[in-house]
Amino acid sequence: MDVFNSRIHKWYSLFKRDLPWRNTRDPYFIWLSEIILQQTRIDQGLAYYQKFTETFPTITDLANASEDQILKLWQGLGYYSRARNLHFTARHITEHYNGVFPRQHHLILSLKGVGEYTAAAIASISFNLVYPAIDGNVFRVLSRFFGISEPIDTGTGKKIFTAIANELIQGTDPGMHNQALMEFGALQCTPQKPDCLKCPLKDQCYAFSSNKIAELPVKLKKTKQRDRYFNYFVLSHENKTWLKKRTEKDIWKNLFEFPMIETSDATSIEKLLSMPELIKFVDPDKAIIKSVEDWKVHLLTHQRINYRIIQVNLLQEITMPLDLIEVNKKDIFNFAVPKLLETYLTGNS
Ligand code: SF4
Repeated sequence: MDVFNSRIHKWYSLFKRDLPWRNTRDPYFIWLSEIILQQTRIDQGLAYYQKFTETFPTITDLANASEDQILKLWQGLGYYSRARNLHFTARHITEHYNGVFPRQHHLILSLKGVGEYTAAAIASISFNLVYPAIDGNVFRVLSRFFGISEPIDTGTGKKIFTAIANELIQGTDPGMHNQALMEFGALQCTPQKPDCLKCPLKDQCYAFSSNKIAELPVKLKKTKQRDRYFNYFVLSHENKTWLKKRTEKDIWKNLFEFPMIETSDATSIEKLLSMPELIKFVDPDKAIIKSVEDWKVHLLTHQRINYRIIQVNLLQEITMPLDLIEVNKKDIFNFAVPKLLETYLTGNS
């Protein structure tokens, strides 16, 4: 254990990336960086971190922002519930803790959107508390070095990894130690083809000596993906188009999108145009279908969104349902939209 720690710590002091959240212990910034970086690459997350810290320098600024403003800033990162939880928690801390981030681990863990991993990261980095932060990188390093073949996504597996991580963190600077392990997994002991020959742990690494790098760590559950089919209608009349806010308990809650009909499969355009829902916003007698794009796919963790864009020119003004918002086309970028529509609007598909 001592050899493992000392070599990882040394490696970290030599090779860690200089990232803005590494130059602070302020729990607000650490929390922000951890939430932004969940399921996000560092290079992408960095720009969001900078935008958020510049726009909301304090937790009270974040609490006082409107949800639309936060979602707009978050646009493109995906997992929008993280942004909503961020807002909720900022308000909670402002109301219940006078804007001061709680210092105790159990209170940090009780915050909305903060799980075991994030609580441990904040507690250790900001408050020097001895809690191991175990993310995917740490699971991988421990599994390979110690030769643990218990799946990382089972109760037993989690207990085994937590026990080892707990032992390793004792007597260290916990914030530095947690970051060192995570960084080592991110840069050195990578998922594919780690550069073991240059690894400071290679002489004692189980996976390297037994040629089991590709087999570790073991994961049991395969992510099941559900196919969904979204037919978007981009309505156009003079300089106007229409958007709708997604209010249901579903993906992209509170984001805006073009009027959409969800179908159970890749329905033909003829069948789609005969659906009764359509008449709510397009009367075929008063509109021309300008174009129908091919189906495209947008992948989420548990869902595969098949979507297509149907451009419709309205021949005359029609009365739209109340939940459709009339938008001047030049203002469309003021609205937070899902990534796939942002891609469509910016022409980066
Ligand atoms: S030797 Fe290879 S598998 Fe083992 S810890 Fe180093 S990089 Fe990871």
